[in-house]
Amino acid sequence: MEFTVLGLSEDVRAGVTALGYTKPTPVQEQAIPVALAGDDILACAQTGTGKTAAFLLPTMQRISTEGKIRALVVTPTRELATQIEVEALVIGEHTGHSVLAVYGGVPYVTQLKALRRGVDLLVATPGRLLDLESKGEIDLSGVEILVLDEADRMLDMGFWPDVSRILRLLPPERQNMLFSATLSDEVLRVIGKAVHDPIRVDVSPASVPVDAVEQYVYPVNASQKTELLVALLKEIDEYRAIVFTRTKQRADRLDAALRVSGVQSDTVHSDRSQSQRERTLADFKSGKHALLVATDVMARGIDVESVTHVINYDVPDRPEDYVHRIGRTARAGETGVAISLLSHDELEPLRHIERVVGKVMEARDVEGFDYLDRVVPRADRGSATAAPRTLFSGGVHRRGGRSGRTRRF
Ligand code: AMP
Repeated sequence: MEFTVLGLSEDVRAGVTALGYTKPTPVQEQAIPVALAGDDILACAQTGTGKTAAFLLPTMQRISTEGKIRALVVTPTRELATQIEVEALVIGEHTGHSVLAVYGGVPYVTQLKALRRGVDLLVATPGRLLDLESKGEIDLSGVEILVLDEADRMLDMGFWPDVSRILRLLPPERQNMLFSATLSDEVLRVIGKAVHDPIRVDVSPASVPVDAVEQYVYPVNASQKTELLVALLKEIDEYRAIVFTRTKQRADRLDAALRVSGVQSDTVHSDRSQSQRERTLADFKSGKHALLVATDVMARGIDVESVTHVINYDVPDRPEDYVHRIGRTARAGETGVAISLLSHDELEPLRHIERVVGKVMEARDVEGFDYLDRVVPRADRGSATAAPRTLFSGGVHRRGGRSGRTRRF
């Protein structure tokens, strides 16, 4: 399908061309005509599917350019807000809309100046938006279109009370578009209230990235994960990799340990200042750092091309986080590799993930690595529905022990 048949105006299509897009992605194909018709949308689509343009293009076609906030995009993180802003600015150059993103962690002054000049499309994180509204700097009474981006994430991050307050500040007659990576019962129950008679747009979350990503597990004792990661990176040779940890503290510790081992690494997480994060992402994009250590919250916003490897230093508890993480690689038709360092206590979450993505991941080993106290998985890891304990042989192999180390399984 071509962009020309979706009903987009010439101006908006000029924006599409400027963005370098030639063919719409599935979510764009499905969402744009619905949004242009003015209907509410409930879309299940994750980052990497082209969802930003799916809501920006029709939104910018439908709103005026008089400098009053007509469209509001609410998104959970600063990184997402700036990425949406960048895309909207490119389109705005052709449609004449003024665009602004407001988010916390930076001084108010620049955002205030831009707001006072007049904005047509405002992108915002919930806290800063409410802040500026309560100061009388933002008038939401003219909003015609609301987009809730990464709604499930906003729920997870505890932003829902803020989002509910925002909803109450908006005129009741408006178009609503809700984008979420997952539409679980809980998500639907809570956030479903924000949309009225929505048209469902579904881009199967698993089929987009998962099929294009080779996925492996590397079983290892939890205490040897860092050491194994360093050995693995040596083996990989050339990479642009994102490594995920469960917590910010683990991200910091791992980043420090990697640097000591000579790996060019940096980290992004919510404790770092906005300017630090921006610099880190820019360095990663430019290739100054080949490896980025991140937490799930930050992962949502990282949109970097040609990421060759996603490495789960910690296996995520929730399958949707796994899908999100590995969606950072294999973008735009490229292939990618996802590696999970698997300690024994992470078997259960892994099995849950395997059920969701519909495959049993091949277990691999780093040749020559000095495995210590490892509980070794069996050669045939069985089907994804097998009981957890059948995945591991239960044998413990010690460094220099009688039976030697097991590198093949
Ligand atoms: P998103 O899901 O909005 O975060 O977009 C993921 C990536 O896909 C971004 O880097 C976009 O620039 C890119 N993208 C979005 N739409 C298209 C398209 N129609 N053709 C090619 N790339 C696209």
